[in-house]
This record gives sequence, structure tokens and C-alpha cells, in this order.
Amino acid sequence: MKYCSHCGAEVSHRIPPGDNRERFVCDRCDTIFYQNPNLVAGTLAVYQQQILLCRRAIEPRLGYWTLPAGFMENGESTSAAACRETREEANAEVTVQQLLSLISVPHIDQVHLFYLARLEQPQFSSGEESLEVALFSEADIPWQEIAFPTVSRTLKHYFRHQHTTPQLPCLTDTIELTDSLKRLEQQENIKQHQKSASRQTS
Ligand SMILES: [Zn+2]
Repeated sequence: MKYCSHCGAEVSHRIPPGDNRERFVCDRCDTIFYQNPNLVAGTLAVYQQQILLCRRAIEPRLGYWTLPAGFMENGESTSAAACRETREEANAEVTVQQLLSLISVPHIDQVHLFYLARLEQPQFSSGEESLEVALFSEADIPWQEIAFPTVSRTLKHYFRHQHTTPQLPCLTDTIELTDSLKRLEQQENIKQHQKSASRQTS
């Protein structure tokens, strides 16, 4: 950021007194702008042993399959956010059962959490951010076309523990930035860069 959103003065990037890391600080009104990770909440919704997946209509990972999920809004609980995202992306009503995974993604400053949920009726359709919504049994999951590592880990965790009673264990994990993931993200960046460049020239 360059300017203070409170008073409009230019901000500087420095360690405020009593702190230990650099922040954007306004030298006129003394506001300190803290930047913290974003929470992404979603559901793994089950109907008769099948999982609800959405094919993404937006970047990043357009055309790839994901569990319905998205950024939490202020004033929302995590489970309400997960249900809202499921409604928006899949036009599906679900009942949350338990937390299934909590996965940190430190290189993009995000935390992803997924709830196990019940899809009461086989009623769903594509929301604005989905090209297609469908139910998949374990044998049919398109593993090569899953959009994000947090989604594949949550799906694998579910299939490994789906018959555990009375509750499934909750997966707590961290996605490390491996070389292959770095390459994948670079490809996505190039793809998006090319798209915005072609938009500008057309
Ligand atoms: Zn200011």
C-alpha cells in the first residue's frame, strides 16, 4: 500500500515501536496497518457416499475441480461462511456435521478449513463461479484435475477415515511451497499475465 486509508498521507514501511516486524505505518495519523492471513472456508458435502465438486469458472485454476469454498466475510462464523460458499458456488443447501481439515498455506498467507457436511437432497446447479457441479464417488474423483492441494488433501483424508465413528479425525496440515508447486504457481501467474496483457491490447 502507498497511502493511508484514514487520512490519505503517504505511508512508510517500518517496524513500529514495541513491534518486531515491518508494517505499513502512517506518519501523520499514526495508524498501523496490520496484514494477517485470510481464511478460506468450504465444505466436503456428501450425498449417498458421493462428494459434491465444482468445476471452476474463474482463475486461478479455471476448469479444474474444487470443493465449494471461498473467503470468509467479516461478521460470519466459519461454518456459516462454508455454507454460504456452498450455496453461492453450487446452489446447494448443506448441513454442517464437523470440522474435517484445517490447513495453513503460509506462502500465500491463507488458512483453508473444510467442514464435513450432508447434502440432504441431490439438488444443485452451477453458481456464477462454477462451470459445472457434480457428485463423484471415490472411484470417479478426477485426481489429476483437482484445483488446489488443500482440496486433494482434504478429499484423501476423508476417504481414509470416512467410516470412523462417532467422529472423523480432523486433519491439521501445512502446504509447503515445493518446487513443483512453485512451478505450477508460476505457470498460473504467466497465464494470468498473458490474459491481462491481451485484454489491454484488444
Ligand atoms: Zn493516516
